[in-house]
Amino acid sequence: MGNKRWPAIIATPAMRSSYDTVIIGGGGHGLATAHYLAKNHGITDVAVLEGSWIGGGNTARNTTIVRSDYLLNASFGLKNFALKLWGELSQELNFNLMYEPRGYVDLAHSDGELEHFTIRANAMRLGGAGVEILTGQALQDCVPELDLNSAARFPVAGALFQPAGGVIRHDAVAWGFARKASQAGIHIFQKTPVTKINITKDKVSSVDTPQGRINCRQVFISVAGASNQVASLAGLDLPIHSINVQAFVTEPVKPALKTVVNYNAGLSYISQTAKGEFVLGGASDGYNSFARRGSFARIEDVLARAVQMFPFLSRLRLMRHWSGTADISMDGNAIIGQTPIDGLSINCGWGYAGFKATPAVGHQMAELLANNTTPDLIKPFTYDRFANGAEIDDAGAGPYPWHH
Ligand SMILES: Cc1cc2nc3c(=O)[nH]c(=O)nc-3n(C[C@H](O)[C@H](O)[C@H](O)COP(=O)(O)OP(=O)(O)OC[C@H]3O[C@@H](n4cnc5c(N)ncnc54)[C@H](O)[C@@H]3O)c2cc1C
Repeated sequence: MGNKRWPAIIATPAMRSSYDTVIIGGGGHGLATAHYLAKNHGITDVAVLEGSWIGGGNTARNTTIVRSDYLLNASFGLKNFALKLWGELSQELNFNLMYEPRGYVDLAHSDGELEHFTIRANAMRLGGAGVEILTGQALQDCVPELDLNSAARFPVAGALFQPAGGVIRHDAVAWGFARKASQAGIHIFQKTPVTKINITKDKVSSVDTPQGRINCRQVFISVAGASNQVASLAGLDLPIHSINVQAFVTEPVKPALKTVVNYNAGLSYISQTAKGEFVLGGASDGYNSFARRGSFARIEDVLARAVQMFPFLSRLRLMRHWSGTADISMDGNAIIGQTPIDGLSINCGWGYAGFKATPAVGHQMAELLANNTTPDLIKPFTYDRFANGAEIDDAGAGPYPWHH
C-alpha cells in the first residue's frame, strides 16, 4: 500500500571524518568507479560526495546512446570495452539497465564522407568490432522510414552500421551502480558539494563540505560540466570549456523506428524510446554556458534535420526539452588519470559523448586508484597530452572544441 515497504536504494550512513578515497561527483562515472573499487579490488573505505542528487548531472540528461564507432585506437578501445561491460551489467548489478543493442546507423552524405566511414569501419574491424557499410536498398531495409533523398537537400550516400550500438536507460545506470556500491559498504552522500580541496606538502590531504571536513589519502574528481570549478579548488587550470547541450522528446506514438540514426549534415540524431517518444539531440549550442537552458536556434536546427530524415516527424509535437553542461577539451576527448598533484586524479572532457564510456572509465579508474598505476586503456588520455603534442583528435579538427 502506497509503496511504503519499498526499501531505500542506497544507505544513509553517518559521515566519517576520514576515508581512504573520496570520489567527487555521483554521476555514472563516479559511481561506476565506486562499484569497481569494491568489486574488483575489495576497496570499500570510500566516500562518494554528490553536490545535488545521484545522476542529476549529465548522466540522466543524455540521449542514452552507446556505440564504439571511433577511428583512433584510444577512443575506440575504451568505448568498445564499455560495450562489452554494458552487456554484462544488468546481471552484475541485479538492476535492469534496459540495454537495447538495436543498431546504430551513422549517415554519410557524400561519396567522400562514405569513404571516410569505410576507413573507420575497417579500423573498427581490426579492433574486433562488428560493423557494416550499408548503401542503397540494404540501408533502406535497415531503416525503412528513412528518406534517402532527404528532401533532395542532403541526399544519403550510405551509412556505417554498428549492430551492437543502441540505447541504455541512463538513470538506471546511475542508480544501479549506486545501489551495488552502497550494498558493498561504500558511503554515498547526496546534497554534499565539495567546497575546497586541501593540499598539504604537495599532496591531497582532505576535502571540505558544508557537512564538515573529510581527511583522505586520495581524491578522484569526476564532475563533468563543473570540472573547471572543482579542479580550481585544488589550483588546477584545465583546458576545458563548459558548454550547453540540449535534448528533445516528442509525444509518444506506436513503434516506428528500431535503430538509432545519426544525420551528419548539421548533426541531428534520433531514437525511439520503449514508451514511443522520439528522443532527439544535436550539436552543442556553440557558446560557453552553465545555464542548462537551450537556445531556440538549436531546437529549430535539430528538428529541421530530423524532419529531412523522417518526414513523418513533422506531424508530431515536441513534449519537452532540457539541457546539460558538457565539458569539452581542446581535442574533444577525455582527460583521465593522475594530475600533477600527488593523490589527485581526474576524469573530464567527455563533452556530449561520455555516457557510452561510463563502465569502462569506472573499471579503469578503479584500477588506477587501487594500484597507483595507469591501466593501458586510459594511458593515452593523459592530463599533459596537450603540452606534449599527443592529442587524440578523432575528428581531425585541431584545437577547436566547437568542431568536435
Ligand atoms: C543533452 C546531452 C546529451 C548527451 N547524449 C549522450 C549520448 O547519447 N551518449 C553519450 O555517450 N553521451 C552523451 N552525453 C554526454 C554524457 O551524458 C556525459 O559525458 C556523461 O554522462 C558524464 O558522466 P559523469 O558521471 O562524468 O557526469 P555527471 O553525470 O554530470 O556527474 C557529475 C556530478 O558531479 C556533481 N558535482 C558537480 N560539482 C560538484 C561538487 N563541487 N561537489 C560534489 N559533486 C559535484 C554534479 O552534481 C553531477 O551529478 C550527453 C550529454 C548531454 C548534456
